[in-house]
Amino acid sequence: MSADVRAPGTEPRSEGAPATRRKSSPRGPPPEPPREPRPFLLDFFPLEGPDQTRLARFYDRLREGRLSTTRCPKDGEWHWPPRTACPSCHSEALEWVDLPETGTIYAFSAVLGGAPLGLEADVPFAVGLVDLAGSPLRLFGRIEGKPWTELRVGGSVRVESYEVPGDRVFYRFRATD
Ligand SMILES: [Zn+2]
Repeated sequence: MSADVRAPGTEPRSEGAPATRRKSSPRGPPPEPPREPRPFLLDFFPLEGPDQTRLARFYDRLREGRLSTTRCPKDGEWHWPPRTACPSCHSEALEWVDLPETGTIYAFSAVLGGAPLGLEADVPFAVGLVDLAGSPLRLFGRIEGKPWTELRVGGSVRVESYEVPGDRVFYRFRATD
């Protein structure tokens, strides 16, 4: 029999009723939890395969070093991020277009702490908004190439793709001036 301390009136009704048992708390810090794969919902990068997203072509092209997006041939609208259907006319007959490989920094900031899982070791790093040359798009992304303290608004960047864990790719910007 357990030696539970129960408030009056909370005794089990019958011999077989479940009893609430308080575990005695061990002294000292809790044991280190076992290392497990990163939880899907906390994975910073998206799943990229054709069985995982209808935008797999975006990643296929990125793997070739081409940053691209969708454009609606009906109304000429460029989308970012790429879409499976046009947000204006709902057409799914979209075309893929390559985006310019260069741009200028519209704004930037630095991640000094609280980085997403998997990026903790990269702190500090720069992120920013980049106006792609000759396009109506302003993209958010990481900016590499020089310390964030040396970046400047209006500075030139180029787009590059890079490998991320899980056989995946993503895009980022690299300062070029
Ligand atoms: Zn459209």
